[in-house]
Amino acid sequence: MALIPEDTVEQVRDSVDIVDVISEFVALSKRGKSFLGLCPFHDDRTPSLNVSQEKQIYKCFSCGAGGNAFRFLMELERISFVESVRKLADQAGIVLPESESGRPAEKDTNDELYRTVEFAQKYFRHMLMRHPSGARARDYLIGRGVSESMMEAFSLGYATNAWDGLLGVAGRRGFSAQMLARAGLAVSRENGGHYDRFRDRVIFPIQSHTGRTVAFGARALDPEQQPKYLNSPETPVYNKSATLYGLWNNREPIRTTRSAVVVEGYMDVVALAQFDVRNVVASSGTALTTDHARLLKRYADLAVLVFDGDAAGTAATVRGIGSMMASELEIRVVTLVGGEDPDSFVRQRGSDGFNELTESAAPLMDFLFEWVRSREDLSTSDGKTRAVRTVSEIIAHAGDSARRGFLIQETAQKLGIEEAIVINAVQRAARYRRSGRNPADEDADSRTASFEPGPRMERELITLMMTDDSTADTVLAEIDAGHFTNGVYRRISGMIAAARKEGRTASAAALLNRCEDAGLAGIVSALSMETGILNPEGRIPLQDYLTRMQLKALDTRIAAVETQLRAAGGQTDPMALMAEHKDLTRQRKELFAGRQAQTEVAPR
Ligand SMILES: [Zn+2]
Repeated sequence: MALIPEDTVEQVRDSVDIVDVISEFVALSKRGKSFLGLCPFHDDRTPSLNVSQEKQIYKCFSCGAGGNAFRFLMELERISFVESVRKLADQAGIVLPESESGRPAEKDTNDELYRTVEFAQKYFRHMLMRHPSGARARDYLIGRGVSESMMEAFSLGYATNAWDGLLGVAGRRGFSAQMLARAGLAVSRENGGHYDRFRDRVIFPIQSHTGRTVAFGARALDPEQQPKYLNSPETPVYNKSATLYGLWNNREPIRTTRSAVVVEGYMDVVALAQFDVRNVVASSGTALTTDHARLLKRYADLAVLVFDGDAAGTAATVRGIGSMMASELEIRVVTLVGGEDPDSFVRQRGSDGFNELTESAAPLMDFLFEWVRSREDLSTSDGKTRAVRTVSEIIAHAGDSARRGFLIQETAQKLGIEEAIVINAVQRAARYRRSGRNPADEDADSRTASFEPGPRMERELITLMMTDDSTADTVLAEIDAGHFTNGVYRRISGMIAAARKEGRTASAAALLNRCEDAGLAGIVSALSMETGILNPEGRIPLQDYLTRMQLKALDTRIAAVETQLRAAGGQTDPMALMAEHKDLTRQRKELFAGRQAQTEVAPR
């Protein structure tokens, strides 16, 4: 944290709008004073992410995630605080002092991994666009109709035909072989040493939905080289089943049309972009998953899956399609015939031909029935049983019960079976799925579960302290930050006191930078959302809270002294204790009398 001066951090925070930052990743709509969207931190079905422009914070009412703009990026990309400040400073055009290229302080985070991948991307790109050895790759791409501007737009690259092309250059720039291996760019040899993973291949950098390059897909140039496509392995920053190739580049067209075409290959995405079909993504070398669908749902309502003839036939593909049902995306499927892929198809038929193709895509269930019919003999009871089981497993993914009911009805009709049999099969499939509970859900629960929000008086006082600095100062002059009985409020009041002592603002957005963990950040955000709600227009005077806090603190001390008196052996001086007790009760009496007087003057 010490790497960036706090004033600079505040300058960065002041110059970005959290609504802009979050809008990059989540579609937000204005609702009253705040903005609402689907929360990216849990499986959100109803928009529960609340973004306050006024307070510059976000808060999920469902999973408890919350914080300021920095926290949002930290959680989304799993990066450090420093790195999140750096990213937003870049966007705001604020120049930060350069740190010594990421050393020990940032060890626990993924910053260095990101930097390694970014360096590799620059290197590959240089090799393709400028280096003589990249000429073959350039020729290959141009031969497939990819223009130089497309190569730029998708940051395509080339890995030379050497065992240490990247390793050598990166090593001289201070990126260790171990780091390259962690980033999936180098492979370690059994007898020590490393070699480049990608050799003599066209490189497709894969961006996460936040625009960071996280991995690479690589296509062989030499037709003899196997495999034809080689991908980065999963790393701490690359989760295959939550990454869609092309989403970052094409996010605007996908958002504006609210529809996405999902293809299988990187080259398909680039080729379609060349023909100005821009709302396209590809799964990066895996079957489609529920996470893919949830990611897409944040940008689009409709996904059209385009499959090559042979891939559409596999059970793995169908299971993948089925798992997308969980997202409430509308899914349509179209299959290419005659060995075509989207790349070859669009080059032959142009964008009009391709658009016609996707417009003719069949609803998911129709595709599914067709597929089942082509594999099972529905005139036999065995065939029917297997067909019902296959379809039911997919229906079980649908979370919405009305939708399930509708799909069950349709299945019964189309397969000519009693509805009760389908219902039973779907229930069985759903039970089976539930038994393998998603650990991520439990994670989200534990965040808020351990926090007890009471006592109400303390909660209200904390929110008051967060409304403005002068209120915080008044409170801190009267009571000790440690007097809060709730440990979480004690931590927050301690943070407020520390900030004010340093002469800094204690607004919620500033406090969030001091929160060490996401749980605390979530609570601070929640509290700040409550300012003005718990005590509208300050109807209950601040002094009331202070007196009550003081009374409570006195009560605690009196009780402690009484316990000591009762237990007093020989060690403690009972006279001193009794004197203290007398003094405390006198203070209490005065305070109480003062309070009575106040209430009489200011009735409510
Ligand atoms: Zn959430």
